[in-house]
Amino acid sequence: MGTWLEGKPLADKIREEVARDIARVKQARGTVPGLVAVIVGDNPASQSYVRMKEKACQALGLWSEVQRLPAATTMAELKARIDELNAADHVDGILIQLPLPGQLNSHEVISRLRPDKDVDGFHPYSLGLLMENRPGLRPCTPTGIVELIKSTGVKIEGSDVVVIGRSMIVGKPLAAMITNENGTVTICHSKTRDLAQVAARADILIAAMGKPGFVGPEFVKEGALVVDVGSNAVSDPEVVRALFGADPKREKDLQEKGYTWVGDVRPGVIEKAGWLTPSPGGVGPLTIAFLMKSTFDAYRLRRG
Ligand code: NAP
Repeated sequence: MGTWLEGKPLADKIREEVARDIARVKQARGTVPGLVAVIVGDNPASQSYVRMKEKACQALGLWSEVQRLPAATTMAELKARIDELNAADHVDGILIQLPLPGQLNSHEVISRLRPDKDVDGFHPYSLGLLMENRPGLRPCTPTGIVELIKSTGVKIEGSDVVVIGRSMIVGKPLAAMITNENGTVTICHSKTRDLAQVAARADILIAAMGKPGFVGPEFVKEGALVVDVGSNAVSDPEVVRALFGADPKREKDLQEKGYTWVGDVRPGVIEKAGWLTPSPGGVGPLTIAFLMKSTFDAYRLRRG
């Protein structure tokens, strides 16, 4: 039986450090870092992520603003908005909440950001710095995952690490970070053959697929550290009960919200793993904590 690896203790520590840094620059200079989140359309999950980020900014003493644009916003309108934010001196970080509605090309949108305000670390320039293992703004979820692994004392260096998922948001930047930490990475995706056998070779297994409960014990080496990045809103009670039995918290979610958050890893994996992050409650709090840190880093990068 392994240990549940909660994200909150490390997230709280990062948030406290960032809050102290902010208080220090506020006292010394009379300014605080500023973050603007731009959200296009009314995707309910995106709205809820942006609210969480805004609450975190308030709690830590960052200045923040959410700019909500209609779902029909054109490319020209969004680029014009980004140009304004790029030029605004009080804005240190700009976050474009993804996914964007279909008429907007997210690559072009992200590439329009000033790289030194790209707090999500998704700009091609930021990703290039990551590939070169040079300092820069880094994607927040993969950063949180690496720090969470390190917090256990499990060594990344020399370990076999399998990442399931190759998105630009999680899988690919994470694989680069693990390589920079001297781990030996295998990246898997929907065309990988014998996925369970490949995964079961890993000392550290990271599931970032967006497939509720896909990863079972057959994917896991005895004693492995397993990180469940998946965060999936599931509304089918049968699917939820097959994974969790009659869990009162899940049943309450289904009744009150019509869905419950489910990871990519089945909870029974805890019997075989050395460590397993819960979902929710594992990686999510770290993503937000590292976004706050990234905003402070962007402030320092631009203002010295
Ligand atoms: P994504 O862009 O949809 O990418 C999913 C990846 O998983 C793809 O590379 C896909 O392969 C792979 N995949 C899907 N089905 C597979 C299968 N049956 N076998 C092997 N590989 C498979 O998703 P994402 O944006 O990376 O997000 C992944 C999950 O992490 C989602 O649940 C998301 O909500 C969650 N997430 C959580 C946080 C957080 O802060 N907690 C942050 C970001 C994302 P192909 O490339 O071949 O299609």
